[in-house]
Amino acid sequence: MDNCIFCNIVRGLAPAKILHQDDEVTAFYDSHPITPVHVLIVPNRHIVSVNQLEAKDENMLGHMVMVARALAITLNLKESGYRLVFNTGPDAGQSVNHLHLHLIGGRRMPFRFEE
Ligand code: 5GP
Ligand code: ZN
Repeated sequence: MDNCIFCNIVRGLAPAKILHQDDEVTAFYDSHPITPVHVLIVPNRHIVSVNQLEAKDENMLGHMVMVARALAITLNLKESGYRLVFNTGPDAGQSVNHLHLHLIGGRRMPFRFEE
């Protein structure tokens, strides 16, 4: 996907502050953080959203969560807490059509996200 910003970040063709990269996933800081710590974990392969996941993606999906967990520990969020969020589709406000897991933390968060 040549015009996908996250594909370009994965390939090193667009700038990002990368925290982790391996064969399956890439993690980098969100450019417009909503919390003091805001990281995105994405599959290296272009997948649009949770809706497009297939059974063969299960291991990769588990790996995304484990990478997020490891980063939460590295970024000192283990005790204070954090959220892992997949925005999926228009009502959730998904704005980039490449699957991404938000790791957010570093402040107290309300139960609901308001505009
Ligand atoms: P969504 O709203 O789709 O769940 O989240 C997309 C996220 O990607 C947003 O939090 C937004 O700030 C972030 N984002 C969009 N474009 C870029 C970019 O070019 N670089 C980085 N690092 N983050 C981006
Ligand atoms: Zn992509």
